Amino acid sequence: MTPQEVLAELTALQAGDVPTHGGSTMAYVYDSGRVGIDHLAAAAQAAFQWTNALDPTAFPSVARIEDDLVGAAADLLGGGPATVGTVTSGGTESCLLAVLAARERWRARGGTGRPRLVLPVTAHAAFRKAAHLFDLEVVDVAVDPVTCRALPSAVAEALDARAALVVVSAPSYPHGVLDPVGEVAALAAAAGVPCHVDACIGGWVLPFLDDVPEPFDLSVPGVTSLSVDLHKYGYAPKGVSVLLTAEPELRQGHWFSTAGWPGYPVVNPTLAGTRPAGPMAAAWAVHRWLGRDGYAELARATRAATVALAEGAAAIPGLRVVGTPVATLVAIAQDGPDGVDVLHLADEATARGWLLQPQPPFAQPGGADLPATLHLTVTGATAVRVDALLADLADAACAAAALPPPVADPGLVAAAATIDPAALTVAEVDALLELAGVGGGTLPERMAPVHALVAALPRPVAERLLAGVLDLVYRPRRESAVSG
Ligand SMILES: *Cc1c(COP(=O)(O)O)cnc(C)c1O
Repeated sequence: MTPQEVLAELTALQAGDVPTHGGSTMAYVYDSGRVGIDHLAAAAQAAFQWTNALDPTAFPSVARIEDDLVGAAADLLGGGPATVGTVTSGGTESCLLAVLAARERWRARGGTGRPRLVLPVTAHAAFRKAAHLFDLEVVDVAVDPVTCRALPSAVAEALDARAALVVVSAPSYPHGVLDPVGEVAALAAAAGVPCHVDACIGGWVLPFLDDVPEPFDLSVPGVTSLSVDLHKYGYAPKGVSVLLTAEPELRQGHWFSTAGWPGYPVVNPTLAGTRPAGPMAAAWAVHRWLGRDGYAELARATRAATVALAEGAAAIPGLRVVGTPVATLVAIAQDGPDGVDVLHLADEATARGWLLQPQPPFAQPGGADLPATLHLTVTGATAVRVDALLADLADAACAAAALPPPVADPGLVAAAATIDPAALTVAEVDALLELAGVGGGTLPERMAPVHALVAALPRPVAERLLAGVLDLVYRPRRESAVSG
């Protein structure tokens, strides 16, 4: 084959993907809408695609790129003279490392037993993954069911001697609202507990706005670390986030070094060994090109579009906006018992060419239930299409209103209640998924009944079935027919 033929094959694989550009995919991807970014980022990526960021002494260029990115983040987000940081592969890794560092600090200071991670329920799922990987116990803290913000009084109750870290979001992913960072950080500091601000999604937007209700960054007393994703509103291609720590001691807690093998001496600041430098170089180039002014312009235009979108969505009969969105995310919920079901709304939006992310209803441990919502991430490319989006949303709401509420199959729910998910084999999970309408790993066109089912199942069963879907999606394609 010629390289052209190979590339044509590869491009053909993308035919079934949601679009990465144009602003209609309102989760997963971040399109600035600026012509020129793609080409610049690709060229920067290409220049560094064979470089290994594993060893910044062999590749000083990489150290420089990382220092520039961390420095830019520290400047933007209230870093003090002692602030340091690490470039990671993404928000999840930044969150993981923040938890690891806090756990190591807790142990170093004499903590015994199993450390705890204090999480308002709206904190990103990455922190649950961190607790799972690094063996911390999650303390779920209910949020205010109306504002969806963390409740300082509830957080305070969880700040005991086993609390290794408390997390607040700026803003939260599910609802785009700002936690009371100052109040929580002060309570944490008084209790001697570090406080992480998860600004993965908002950290490259909020600093450029003039209507942010309160400070949220490293300048807030008590905040010890902060994460911000360059592959979100830094408008860099995938694979770059920054974890800032208020002081170098804390950063050491997530670094790993060993001389305990006969190979090369190892120092790894992140989870990876060999590290791609391409995404870092791309982020560096995009940052250098857009500059503060470019980001400020994009953030302000996108924020204005978000405000217009929120107002327009709230004016559609049967819909409301959850809480007070402070950045460029909006969560839309059903307004009143006769309002529009947002899981149906998601399907109707899909039919009209928009990906709006459905978020199932959530029963808060020790708190009032949170409603199902639709999550909309507004980027530069969506900002110029808000009128079209609102027109389609209104049309989709009418169509959704005409449908009966999605209900989970009562037989399946009853059967699931008796299941021990840990005892299920892969084949049994496959069979259950077949019954649930997602056999073969192909999702049905209308997902509302599936989301309703997930919400109705006991959480551990739902989690096992969700993993089962990916188990069906990821089946190796073998060139030779394998018998047996
Ligand atoms: C996106 C996000 C994360 C996780 O980041 P990934 O880059 O998807 O791994 C964590 N926290 C918040 C608030 C986010 O928006």
